[in-house]
Amino acid sequence: MRKVIVIALGGNAIKQAHEQGTVEEQRANIATTCEQLVNMLIYGNRLVITHGNGPQAGSLLIQQEAGVAEVPAQPMDVVGAMTQGQIGYMFQQTLQNMLWDKQVPLPVVSIVNQVLVSEDDPDYQDPSKPVGPFYTKEEAEKLGAERPEYVIKEVKPENVERRFRRVVPSPEPIRNIEYLAIRKMVDSGMVVIASGGGGIPVVYDENKRLKGTAAVIDKDKAGEVLATVVGADVFLVLTDIAHAKINFGTPEEKDVGLITYSEMKKLSEEGHFKAGSMGPKVLSCLRFIEWGGQQAIITSLDNAIAALRGESGTRVVPDTK
Ligand code: ADP
Ligand code: MG
Repeated sequence: MRKVIVIALGGNAIKQAHEQGTVEEQRANIATTCEQLVNMLIYGNRLVITHGNGPQAGSLLIQQEAGVAEVPAQPMDVVGAMTQGQIGYMFQQTLQNMLWDKQVPLPVVSIVNQVLVSEDDPDYQDPSKPVGPFYTKEEAEKLGAERPEYVIKEVKPENVERRFRRVVPSPEPIRNIEYLAIRKMVDSGMVVIASGGGGIPVVYDENKRLKGTAAVIDKDKAGEVLATVVGADVFLVLTDIAHAKINFGTPEEKDVGLITYSEMKKLSEEGHFKAGSMGPKVLSCLRFIEWGGQQAIITSLDNAIAALRGESGTRVVPDTK
């Protein structure tokens, strides 16, 4: 059956953990990912693709600081926009080439996309998301004096020299500012890449004007917001593991397969899914079903087609189904 599928791609779709992040490495990973995406498109599905940007934004922040003697550093929201362009471009080109090879004339477009957050979000009180380079104590103190607006925390034990890092809030996504454009593009049959890196976080200032904020939105949570905006049939979270598991990392570990909303909610409340990795994926799947979605899937790239066929992956469905 033809469906609108919103796909949230994990970090490994672009850069594997052991890699440095050269352009060749990134292109190779993206090609592997796009081969699966093409398979989904060939079945007649409409795809909206979103992706993380952690390693790319981290590298770009380091480049900003390293080049500061020659060119001014750009702020985090601008760096976020740059990585949306960077990653979107690579996906757009690769996917377009593969579709042309298969004589599937679908247009592929990536958009620079802002996501509204609230400065009243509790995460602004005690930011927790580390970004950019690691610093020594001296460097951290110098940076803190130069940039009083930065929150810098010790994120590694005292025996590690470079143990300080800037931390920023990770607020809840409210909506995609460009949602009407995204919806129109999807409705007209385009393959859309949006909300990259969780979207560029923006807030309304006192004059009701949008402005960027130094924050990082979780890409799985932002993917769920995107899925509701386009009225997706399926929210598909692709990561490096084929199933969410209960008792993860213990001898009692077990795959979660087809599961109802209430059963999954219970597992989540019991604490089976770790904060910062599987936790937000499960939470986002639950939110998608709460909104009215018919199916939310967590699986690996290799298992994506089988999961869409109902043969693999963690598949969350409404209670009444
Ligand atoms: P991504 O880049 O795709 O967002 P993450 O590393 O954030 O990837 O999340 C996937 C990881 O979550 C898995 O590789 C696994 O190590 C971890 N994880 C934590 N809890 C669980 C769980 N209960 N079941 C499966 N994986 C889990
Ligand atoms: Mg993650």
